[in-house]
This record gives sequence, C-alpha cells and structure tokens, in this order.
Amino acid sequence: MKQKSAVVLTLFVLASSAWAQTDPKATEQWEPEPKVITAGKQDSAPPSDAVVLFDGRDLTQWETSKDHSPALWKVHDGVVTVEKATGNIQTKQHFKNYQLHLEWQVPTDITGEGQARGNSGVFLASTGPGDEGYEVQIMDSFKNKTYVNGQAASIYKQTAPLVNAMRPPGEWQTYDIVWTAPVFAADGTVKSPGYVTLFHNGVLVQNHTQLSGETFYIGKPKYKPYTDAAIKLQAHGDHSQPISFRNIWVRPLD
Ligand code: MG
Repeated sequence: MKQKSAVVLTLFVLASSAWAQTDPKATEQWEPEPKVITAGKQDSAPPSDAVVLFDGRDLTQWETSKDHSPALWKVHDGVVTVEKATGNIQTKQHFKNYQLHLEWQVPTDITGEGQARGNSGVFLASTGPGDEGYEVQIMDSFKNKTYVNGQAASIYKQTAPLVNAMRPPGEWQTYDIVWTAPVFAADGTVKSPGYVTLFHNGVLVQNHTQLSGETFYIGKPKYKPYTDAAIKLQAHGDHSQPISFRNIWVRPLD
C-alpha cells in the first residue's frame, strides 16, 4: 500500500513538473494587480499618487529646519529661491523609501568657484537641523572644477556621478531620485544600507549606489539610526547668488 502511494506521488510530481515546463500559463502571475494611477502629462509632472511638495504657489509643505517655524525662502514667479539667512528648510512630512522629482536652476549671473558656486543640496533623510543626513549635492558643476565626490549629482564626499550631465547656468536641471532608506536593527546596527539611484537631466548618474553612512563635510561617513525623516534643502553658507527650485514631488514607496 505504502509503495503504491509512493508511485502515485512520484507520477504526480513528474506530471506537474512536465506541466510547468510545457504550459506557458504555469509562469503567468495575475494577482495582486498593480494599482492604477494617472501619470503626469509630461514625465516631470506629478502622477496621481504623488505628494506634491512644491507646485510654485507656497511653502505650506515646508518648515525651517532649525526651529520648525514656517519656511521663509522666497516664492516668486512659480519658483522658490534659497534664502541663505534663514537656513535649511525641510518637509513637514516624514518619509522612508521614495521616488523624488525636483528641478533646480543656477542663476545666469552666478559667481564664485569650486564649492562656492551655487551650492545647495537635497538631504534625502534629514537627521538634524544643520547638514546632518544624506546629501545629494546641488551646485553649479558646469565648467566649474571641484572634488569629484562633491560636484553636482555626487553623494556628497562618497560617490562621484557616473557622468557630468550639467546644463549651463540659467537652464533648469532635473533630478529624479530613488531612495532606499537604511534599515537599522533594534540595537542600532545597520541591517541594510541606504541606496541611491539618480537621473540628472534624464541621464543615469547614480546606479543603485550604496551609501557608507551619512554625508559629512569632515570625516568618514557613518550611520546613525533613524526610522523616518524629512527631506531637506540646503542653504549653503557661501556668498554666491542663491539658486531656485520648482516642481518638487515625492512618491512614498513603503
Ligand atoms: Mg551642498
């Protein structure tokens, strides 16, 4: 009896593996269906499931990083311009993993050189009111030499961009970023590191780049546990003309 059921089982296994190898339906997946959303009219426009962070009208989604007071950067003509005196601004809402779109513009009358030329930055997760967190560099890297892991589209002081895709001052630049946040164990150790994929003006410049920790001006990167965080824009302390932003939206991926 035992032998008979073993034979039946063997035949069943053979038959089902034969089915899996001959029937195309065996490798079709039908559930769960991806949620239907409405894409933006152009690739840069927010899709229906995006959180719009800045649409040219006001900074209601933002606050001053140092004291959580209203963000005071200047909104004009559908753009927002960095106000160096009032410091970094950040989103009121916190995020983990996401897709982020933002556009930025270096003014045509930009002066200064190296890091002191249109320097700003987007911190993908802010872990303090100053420059703490994970910065993707924003600055004028159009014919402006600086250390390569500090030029535009670098992971600051960690990874240079694959290519320099800068448009000249006066033209709008786009960043499309995929941020996979680091995950920490209960004891604070890193379970999985953070990763950044970045398209600068549609060109791949960071390809699932693994981060070694937060991006520091001085010293080696290291991780500090957090669970969710604001997205922060940098008011850099140099004396060059401030840059502007427009059309900022995010799609949480949790
Ligand atoms: Mg910067």
